[in-house]
Amino acid sequence: MDIVVAATGAQFAWAGSEAVLQAKIGNPVIVLGLATGSSPLGLYAELARRAGEGEVDFSGDTAFALDEYVGLDPEDPRSYAAYVRREVAEKLGLQAARVHVPDGMAPDLMSACASYEQTIRAAGGIDVQIVGIGVNGHLGFNEPRTSFISRTRVSNLSDATRTSNARYFGSIDAVPKRSVTQGLGTIMEARHIVLLARGAGKADAIARAVNGPVTTACPASLLQHHRAVTMVLDEEAAGLLAPHTYRRLTFTDGQIPTAVR
Ligand code: PGA
Repeated sequence: MDIVVAATGAQFAWAGSEAVLQAKIGNPVIVLGLATGSSPLGLYAELARRAGEGEVDFSGDTAFALDEYVGLDPEDPRSYAAYVRREVAEKLGLQAARVHVPDGMAPDLMSACASYEQTIRAAGGIDVQIVGIGVNGHLGFNEPRTSFISRTRVSNLSDATRTSNARYFGSIDAVPKRSVTQGLGTIMEARHIVLLARGAGKADAIARAVNGPVTTACPASLLQHHRAVTMVLDEEAAGLLAPHTYRRLTFTDGQIPTAVR
């Protein structure tokens, strides 16, 4: 694992964008895996800035969201379909036909899950998967005790996750109880995984993910078995890691490097 600790929001966004853009070196058209949630918002804005300045072009890329709530209409602003349109596709210039989000309204959810897996496979797999981490160590909506070989499926949300996400719904009771999520087995097939975490509330989950043991009690600990993981953390999220396990960015905001590719 390459663990990068960023001192400011601008550095955090830049480091995340740099990790994502590694996938485009020598490979101008890629398949992105998209996390939703608060952690990647700055990263998406930074990718949009770099695209706006002509450094990179996402218009031929394909994207797959990690998850979606069951029962939320894609037009509902709290749906991840709406988030992906608003925060990613429109800003990065992705073509709508190439942006996929699990269908949480499908009459037959199981077959919708199977067809999502099939669409990922047909696209050649995910080159770079952006993920957040839950306070309980979840990846996507793969809650503790999810099988490590799970595929895209319907999952029940834990109380910890529904409590965290109540901020988007006004109350915990309004948070959907189920989701469609890529499985841990699906996520682990991505060629590169970029995990983003900010804030002291994530420090324990990050320490468990990095230091092990590898256990379904902390789904993100499975990342120890992936060969290409970049974690981008702020100081607080890295607070329980031993300093020798990570590197700090060495530039200040005014000197953020401009990569050319
Ligand atoms: P967050 O969510 O980015 O809003 O913290 C991450 C997650 O729950 O996976």
